[in-house]
Amino acid sequence: MTAVVIDGREVARASRARTAQRAQAFKDQHGHAPGLATILIGNDPASEVYVRNKRRLATEAGLVDVHHHLSADVAEETVAQLIDDLNADVNVSGILLQLPLPKGLDRAGLIDRISPAKDVDGLTTVSQGRLARGVSGLRPCTPAGVIELLDTAGVAIEGAHAVVVGRSELVGHPAAELLLRRSATVTIAHSRTSDLAAVASTADILVAAAGIPALIGRDHVKPGAAVVDVGIHRTDSGLIGDVRFDEVSDVAGWITPVPGGVGPMTIAALLSNTVTAAESLTR
Ligand code: NAP
Repeated sequence: MTAVVIDGREVARASRARTAQRAQAFKDQHGHAPGLATILIGNDPASEVYVRNKRRLATEAGLVDVHHHLSADVAEETVAQLIDDLNADVNVSGILLQLPLPKGLDRAGLIDRISPAKDVDGLTTVSQGRLARGVSGLRPCTPAGVIELLDTAGVAIEGAHAVVVGRSELVGHPAAELLLRRSATVTIAHSRTSDLAAVASTADILVAAAGIPALIGRDHVKPGAAVVDVGIHRTDSGLIGDVRFDEVSDVAGWITPVPGGVGPMTIAALLSNTVTAAESLTR
């Protein structure tokens, strides 16, 4: 193996420790800690695990945990009213609507109901517009985590050719925007890209976010490239990513593992966003 393995657990731990210090400083100044409200609708087992981890780590970082678990057949107006109430609650700095939502609920409409000032997932139209314009705002958590991993590992972004595989509004598209804002030359590949290996193998930074297990192999990677694996797939032998780790780690300069790469960074970015939102709301 030639690649440096970027330890997302360690980078996330350090990030959460910084967030905890900021949360304490906020509490000292305002008399209460920033609050993170999580809304879970239905009983999707993976979502339940994600929300449980977010709440646990929020509490560990000294944030106030506000949780609402609604049944899968909840009326849309009830969810909208809850979001309105949380928007108005001065003790809540961040609102997270856990995705995916059960069928029948208007995902885009409910996301956009969240006040952009409390949009700690960075998914509202306003937050995405701010990102596209390059003005300050809350950034989507997984892409923000990708950038922090690259920065911590010392990977130069400015001037690099970054290829992002995937163009979803949750991961691929905002990751490409963040890399562009950092002056990378960015290519976005997607399911209609005709020769993925030819495109990907020109990348100095390759972000794999296609959601296809083991899609990226040796042929997709330029020697010495930084490879960030966003994919998460449960298999009988455990979690795997979009990247064939054993194969690619012989070619890449840096690589993130699955598990223990981007995953922990997503929650760390969420907690950091919550304190940032609290600071902005009281400014
Ligand atoms: P998504 O909404 O399904 O988007 C997948 C994207 O990949 C689409 O843009 C799709 O292209 C593209 N794609 C699909 N097949 C492709 C192929 N063969 N070649 C090139 N591009 C292809 O998924 P997502 O929400 O962005 O998530 C992507 C992965 O990241 C999933 O495995 C998810 O579980 C994981 N994830 C991880 C975290 C974390 O914290 N680590 C957070 C979020 C998501 P089209 O647009 O053309 O369909």
